[in-house]
Amino acid sequence: MKTTSFADLNLAPEILKALTESGYITPTPVQAQAIPIVLEGRDLMAGAQTGTGKTAAFALPILQKLLPLASTSTSPARHPVRALVLVPTRELAIQVEENIKAYAKHTRLRSLVVFGGVDIKTQTPHLKTGIEILVATPGRLLDHVEQKTVQLNQVQVLVLDEADRMLDMGFLPDLKRILALLPRQRQSLMFSATFSSEIKKLSAEFLISPKLIEVARSNAAAENVTQKVYLVAQADKHALLTQLLRGSDATQVLVFTKTKITASRLARQLQREGVSADAIHGDKSQLERIQALDAFKQGKVAVLIGTDVAARGLDIDQLPMVINYEIPSTPEDYVHRIGRTGRAGASGIAISLVSPEEEKYLKEIEKLIKHEIQKENAVVTQQAARPERSPRGEHHERSYTPRPASPKKPSHDPWFDKPYEPSVSATTENKQPEHPVSKPKKEVAAILMRRQS
Ligand code: AMP
Repeated sequence: MKTTSFADLNLAPEILKALTESGYITPTPVQAQAIPIVLEGRDLMAGAQTGTGKTAAFALPILQKLLPLASTSTSPARHPVRALVLVPTRELAIQVEENIKAYAKHTRLRSLVVFGGVDIKTQTPHLKTGIEILVATPGRLLDHVEQKTVQLNQVQVLVLDEADRMLDMGFLPDLKRILALLPRQRQSLMFSATFSSEIKKLSAEFLISPKLIEVARSNAAAENVTQKVYLVAQADKHALLTQLLRGSDATQVLVFTKTKITASRLARQLQREGVSADAIHGDKSQLERIQALDAFKQGKVAVLIGTDVAARGLDIDQLPMVINYEIPSTPEDYVHRIGRTGRAGASGIAISLVSPEEEKYLKEIEKLIKHEIQKENAVVTQQAARPERSPRGEHHERSYTPRPASPKKPSHDPWFDKPYEPSVSATTENKQPEHPVSKPKKEVAAILMRRQS
């Protein structure tokens, strides 16, 4: 059977040109399936994991449909919002709009992104010039609606991107308010990595006879990602993380924690150990988050530590490794996290550090992804945990022994008790993160030797 090409999908030359310039040769499966459906004008419910090319799957046919309405006029009235893309996070909003801009660069269609956490006044003048495609997080969009800086009565196409995340983040009331402001006569497209019963309910409520496409099994973990679990005591996780980073050739590693404080603390500890690391989480200003993400994307920061919310939607080309410092208590989050690697056909590795207290969550994850993840008892050298406190050259091997949950030890590091404050960016401290850690790799051998492939 002949593979579909972008030209087969009835896209205009100006869009095809932009795709060629973006280096896209063939449509991904979600694009090949979704583009004709959207062009036909049907509602769509797409089960597509992150990294499958879902942004272009909705953006390209939207651009194609809006092309005849593109105007050279400078009058804002000639550029009403015709397509609205709702996304759960600022980072995803930025990424989606960057993609749309790239695909639309040879057209007269205008796009804009609005999200919270930045001064609303900076967004208003841009909105007022008139734009056809608006990418927004729900809360900030409603702020603009209240301030009457945006009109949604000419929206023809609505996209709910990462709909499952929006529900998880409690956006349902905001979504309902926004949907009530849109014309009834419109096309609605919903993208979700997972198909929970809530998602099915949402789709039944907002989509009209949608076509259903699913490019990967629902709730399936990215197939080209090698998953691995290290069973390790909570107290040894930091040492194990350092070892794994030292032993890896990966130039970019995304590390997930459950809480903002752990993300900050880890970044700080790793920086002290000479690792080019930074944290990205909700307590940081929007500017700091963008700077940290840019530095990571450009390879100036090798290890980015994030919470689920902050790291959601991050699209980093060829991210080779994801480490779950703590596994999520919601199994769907695991699927999202490991979807950060192995994108667009590349292979990736996802390592989870699992303490005895977390094994119950691991079981839930395995149930969801319908397979058992390879496990190994970690062997941790104590030296890596607190290099500044251990005598040089002294190695204490610790191995994992399951034990009941114990109360958290009080911290002796005063930094842990301080509220978050912006740290000197690792970008300026470590300009050449060829490897996450520029230290000898000796200690890792204990772990790597036991790896079965
Ligand atoms: P997404 O799932 O939309 O976040 O896309 C994941 C990554 O794949 C992004 O870096 C896109 O630029 C890239 N991508 C999307 N479609 C294609 C394609 N047809 N060919 C090559 N790369 C693509």
